[in-house]
Amino acid sequence: MPLKPNNPIAKNNGFLRSPSQRRRIAGIAIVLGLVPLLFFGCLKLSKVTRSWRQPEPPPAVEVDRLIKVRLGGWKPRDSAALEVTAPFTITNSATGRILVQRESRLRQCMVRPASGSGLQIGTIHVNADDVLISPKRDAAIVLDKKTYRGLLRIQCMPGGVVFDNHVDVEAYLRGVLRGELPRYFHPGSFKAQAVAARTYVLYQKRNGRRDRSFDVFDHEGSQMYLGVVGEDRIAVRAVEETAGEVCTWNDGRGDQIFCTYYSSTCGGCSQHVNNVKANEPAVPPLAGGVVCRDCYLAKFYRWDPVTLTKAEVTKRLLARYPSLERLGTIVTVKPKAETADGRIIRVQLVGETGGNETLIGEDFRLSIGGRTLKSTNFVIEDRGDCFVFRNGKGFGHGIGLCQYGMETKARRGVKYVDILTTYYPGAKIKKIY
Ligand SMILES: [Zn+2]
Repeated sequence: MPLKPNNPIAKNNGFLRSPSQRRRIAGIAIVLGLVPLLFFGCLKLSKVTRSWRQPEPPPAVEVDRLIKVRLGGWKPRDSAALEVTAPFTITNSATGRILVQRESRLRQCMVRPASGSGLQIGTIHVNADDVLISPKRDAAIVLDKKTYRGLLRIQCMPGGVVFDNHVDVEAYLRGVLRGELPRYFHPGSFKAQAVAARTYVLYQKRNGRRDRSFDVFDHEGSQMYLGVVGEDRIAVRAVEETAGEVCTWNDGRGDQIFCTYYSSTCGGCSQHVNNVKANEPAVPPLAGGVVCRDCYLAKFYRWDPVTLTKAEVTKRLLARYPSLERLGTIVTVKPKAETADGRIIRVQLVGETGGNETLIGEDFRLSIGGRTLKSTNFVIEDRGDCFVFRNGKGFGHGIGLCQYGMETKARRGVKYVDILTTYYPGAKIKKIY
């Protein structure tokens, strides 16, 4: 059947064109052919010109972003409740060999060392003491009813099992901010906290103890990590808007990250890192002496006197330092060194036997209880059978960033970068990936 004249195919039939039409088409074809040639030619030319004018930058150093978080503390547990809400594999951590492959989820069950050897995960027995559970979907690990992103490593130890969550640093941070800051804090505070927390964990990863299978704890000893339950709009946004940003300082050889310590309320002035952590590099951003007039709204900017009997003080110290038993009951506690604003750097303990011992002020505080003595900035009064710790100022160790000071600054409109460089003098914020 002949094509109708109004059919576009029929219109484009070359046999029907006049010589002038054909010349025009040939012209268009030549132009169309030249365009890509010219375009790619220019690209090539510009590439040559660019490489001549400006050498390519060296490839960026790959940042190892995998964070290993110990869940639930140092001590092995008898057992824990585990659920995996997606298909998963279990591999031997040492060899990488697949031990179990499941196309279905794992319903909640108990994980414990198997009688004999290996691990018992519900009805699954695996013949290995150290395994990695890899779900096919993110946020599918549920340990003791808390959901986590990434993978789960389970190790048998003398006395039970331990669990490490292996997770990308950005996913880790999403679960940290809500654990570290009150819900009502300003979004600018969350951004400053995200950068400080990112720097802290990457520093721990690079410089932490080599004899551990993990980088950080999930509690205040490192940073509070809540997993997926901690992720909300403000926290996630703060992490995303600062992605890859860390605090650095230039040591003369280049920009280095440092241990971005932070605490709740400095009480008026930050202190030098070496007053508390003798082995930490004394970098300028952690040199202390930053006067802070912005944490006065914090609950523990000033705290009420705390009275403890000498017997109770002795008991609490012995729990942490059993060797102090030789002193008998502690009868005198006196500051040996203080900062200009009254923070105790070292204390001397004198026992009823006459012997004495010196402790770092912060270690003394943590022995008594970090929530009992809110800081090391106090005056000690001896009242015979008890001590009164009075004129207390601030909450936490007082190194680096003051969180309540940060909050007042953020509400005043100070940008997160400026907040960070105020509390870490000499620091520079840098995006490393
Ligand atoms: Zn402060």
